[in-house]
Amino acid sequence: LGFEELGLEARILRAVSKLKLEKPTPIQLKAIPLILQGKDVVARAKTGSGKTLAYILPLLHKLLADDPSAGTSAGPRAVVLVPTRELCQQVHDVVAKLLEYCGRSLKVVQLTSSLSVASLRAALVGPPEIVVTTPASLASCLSNKTLSPASLVSLSVLVLDEADLLLSYGYEEDLKTLAPHIPRSCQCLLMSATSSEDVEKLKKLVLHNPVTLKL
Ligand code: AMP
Repeated sequence: LGFEELGLEARILRAVSKLKLEKPTPIQLKAIPLILQGKDVVARAKTGSGKTLAYILPLLHKLLADDPSAGTSAGPRAVVLVPTRELCQQVHDVVAKLLEYCGRSLKVVQLTSSLSVASLRAALVGPPEIVVTTPASLASCLSNKTLSPASLVSLSVLVLDEADLLLSYGYEEDLKTLAPHIPRSCQCLLMSATSSEDVEKLKKLVLHNPVTLKL
């Protein structure tokens, strides 16, 4: 199967072909159709498996499909939580590149602890549809009110990337702070290289009846 058979819309397929990707990786083949169906998904996925595009492509499909006449939402439509600043930059850059190729004006920002409150506030004006951040930065944006908890009502996709590292790097408390603000209607995706009791706990805290992919 090729990317064309997975249900992704034309703008995304055009972006994929500009990235010169020929075939979906195994995780992309399995995860993309499920995510497009709106399911919560847990995937065993290591760096190098193509996991980033496995969640980013259907996430962008979902945001692009939304009615532009519906007006601006109160806050971000998608949040991607990652364990490190480096990964934050990487995921941000992948999304920015795809958006450039898709030719529609969705905005992506990264929020990290290196930014001042003023810069965080400036980054959130709009608001951007997609936010890539760490659990600690998002939790601090909520606690210092650069992001109002109410603005998360419009969240439609949440990704926990490298979930095993999110826990081992000490973000558990931040994730517990964030969990109650995630709307019930939000689709949640969890990517993890390993499964452990802690990842199971996180899964129960955030996801609803997820489909688990083992590859
Ligand atoms: P990741 O597992 O997300 O860290 O991705 C690892 C690398 O694989 C990245 O450089 C991607 O650009 C690349 N990649 C992702 N999907 C594909 C694909 N379908 N075909 C070829 N390369 C890919």
